[in-house]
Parts: sequence; C-alpha cells; structure tokens
Amino acid sequence: MTRTISILGATGSIGRQSLEVIAACGIRTAALTTNRNVKLLEEQCRCFLPELAVAFDPQAAAELKIRLADTPVRVAQGMDGLLEAAALPQADTVLTAVVGMVGLRPTLAAIAQGKRIALANKETLVCAGELVMEEATRCGAQIVPVDSEHSALFQCLQGNRDRGEVKRLILTCSGGPFFGKSAEELQGITRADALQHPNWSMGAKITVDSATLMNKGLEFIEAMRLYQMPPEKILIAIHRESIIHSLVEYCDNAILAQLGTPDMRLPIQYALTWPERCPGPAKELDLFSCPPLTFARPDLETFRCLKLALKAAERGGLACAVLNGANEAAVGLFLQEKIGFCEIADRVAQALSRVPQGDHRDLDAILAADQLARKIALQ
Ligand code: NAD
Ligand code: MG
Repeated sequence: MTRTISILGATGSIGRQSLEVIAACGIRTAALTTNRNVKLLEEQCRCFLPELAVAFDPQAAAELKIRLADTPVRVAQGMDGLLEAAALPQADTVLTAVVGMVGLRPTLAAIAQGKRIALANKETLVCAGELVMEEATRCGAQIVPVDSEHSALFQCLQGNRDRGEVKRLILTCSGGPFFGKSAEELQGITRADALQHPNWSMGAKITVDSATLMNKGLEFIEAMRLYQMPPEKILIAIHRESIIHSLVEYCDNAILAQLGTPDMRLPIQYALTWPERCPGPAKELDLFSCPPLTFARPDLETFRCLKLALKAAERGGLACAVLNGANEAAVGLFLQEKIGFCEIADRVAQALSRVPQGDHRDLDAILAADQLARKIALQ
C-alpha cells in the first residue's frame, strides 16, 4: 500500500486522475512534475504541498519558481529534475505518467531505489522492457501496471503461482474511432477526427495511437514484458464496449475477466493500493444497463500499425525500440498536421527496415536505436 508518492507527469490525463485517487485514499505527495504546464502544476502544488516540483522545460521552471516563491515547495528542471523526483527518498511509489520514451531514465532511477513503480508510461516498457524488468528484479522494485488492460490481467493473475498454468492473455481493444473503416476511408482522416475517442478521454499521443491501433501493438509488447509471455500466448480481441478490460485463459480453459466502467481511476488506484483494495472515486458498473458484450478479430491489413508492432514483437532485439521511436516521431508530425494519418504507418515501416544490431538490454544501444528511428521517421 502506497503512503507517499511522486508523480511524473502530474498535469496530464493520468496525472490529474491519479491526484483524485490520492486525495480520496489519503496518500501524500513527495514530488509532482510537468513538461511546461506550470499554471496547473502550481495549483496542484498549493493543494498537495509536495517537497519538490519539476518543470522539464527550463523556461517553464523559471516561471514556476516565481509562482511558488511563497510556498515551501522546491523547484527543479530538466532531466536532472525528473531524475531527482524519481529518486526522492520519502516516496515509496513513483507513478510514471509522462508520455514517451523520456520516461525511461527516470523509471530506471526509481527502480534503482527499490521503489514501487506504478507504470502508466508504456513507451518505456516497449523500448526497454527487458532491461527495465531485469533491473526491477535485481533491485527488488515492484512494477505494477496502470494501463487498464494490464491492470485487468494483473488482477486476473492474482493468486496464480505457476505461469505455466496460463494458456494465454487476452487483451481487449475498443477498436478506436475508425473501427470498420476501409484502408481508403482512412486516407482522409484529419487530426481532429483522430483526436475523438469513443470510450476514453486521454492525452493526444495515446489518442492517436488508439486510432491507428498502434496503442494495442504497444500494449501487446508491454504485456509480453510485464508477464514474460511469448507473442503466441497473447491474443487481441476487439471489444467495442470497453467493459471487459482484459482476460486470462488458464490451461483448464477457465477464463477470468475484469469488468468495470471505462474509468482509469480504478487501475490507477489498484496500482497504488495493491495488494489491498479500498473504496475510491471510480464509477460503479451497473450490469443491468450494460450493452451486450461483443468480440471480434482485429483487421491487421487496414490497421497497419498494429501489424508492424506485432512483427517487431516477434522479431525482438532492438526492433521494439525502433518501432516506438519512429511512432513517437511520426505521431508528432501528424499532430502538427505535417503528415497524413496513413503516413504514420509508412514512416514506422521505413524505420523498421533499418533496425540496428546491438544489445537490447544495453541502455546506450536502446537510446541510439531510438534516435536513429526518429531520424528516419522525420525525414
Ligand atoms: P498527457 O499528454 O495527458 O500527459 C503527459 C504528461 O507528461 C504531462 O504532465 C506532460 O506535462 C508530461 N510530459 C510530456 N512531455 C514531457 C517531457 N518531454 N518531459 C517531461 N514531462 C513531459 O498523457 P496521458 O494520456 O496522461 O498519458 C501518459 C502516459 O500514460 C502515456 O505513456 C500513455 O500511453 C499512458 N496511458 C494513458 C492512459 C490514459 O487514459 N490517458 C491510459 C493508459 C496508459
Ligand atoms: Mg490501455
């Protein structure tokens, strides 16, 4: 059970919802960080009074310092600030809710201190999952998932002592806003179209990933790393209603599922309170007003990003780091309206045609593969 927490990315969608959970559960804060949303971070600091506030952007940090001058909150900046926030001794848990690979080094810093990692920042596990999981084992740090599907799997795996009894993990997928569309229909998708998600309200990058289904590909790799499962033991099922958050099928053909309203506050809270549970702000699910639950196979030919991610997962080595880096860069271009929706997959495919050789457990090799992939995707 978490008593004191540092939140990396406190001003984002996950960060803001986690502060609601923390207020409800009486958890204290040690550090809160943002990229440059200092107005919101100031409000959060006045409300939660952490020891440390960090703005990654130096100009934003200077402004934050002025804003918080009359409070006891100390201000830091940049990667050094994030690393300090991740390793503050008072916190027993670090919630990693920054978006993108920028979360990797802070996650490793928190792991080195043996802290519980409530992990939302899936890009970190995709680009460096083997390294992160090995470091966690070596340092005795628990990694507890925040992603709703992985939290569902984690909940369905409670009490399972022998991973050999697990036949497969079944990841559910809403299908995103463009479910059922043809490849031609995807051509004209704009930024505004892609930022509408039917069931979840999230940050811009993950919302685009949910529209291309790259998000499910990243989650597939995330599940492989978290639960040490080979790709053939993970199945993706389109489930439009987002009521079943994922399932575990055991060797006796029993299938366990976790159900709930699509409300991230529940998986966030479970990551903080595990192995305990307590009442919290997540909305109740009324079974009698649920729509019928449906399941379908994903369309890998139309949603090429998902197919590319599954290929990278199969291939291993530095391919997942390349996939992630190229996707982050390409989604950035799409959000700036510099490339079209379907070009995201084109750019990721180009980067994946040039995966460097190297040790995928070595941080420098991972960072170099990430940089190369971004360069190719931005060309
Ligand atoms: P968001 O864009 O709403 O928030 C991102 C946070 O990270 C903000 O606080 C921002 O200030 C900070 N940040 C961004 N760039 C940074 C940088 N370069 N350096 C330091 N800080 C930076 O994103 P989100 O939707 O909250 O998602 C956060 C993470 O959680 C992502 O990895 C996402 O995949 C994962 N996740 C989100 C959801 C969801 O429902 N939103 C669900 C599952 C997993
Ligand atoms: Mg998810």
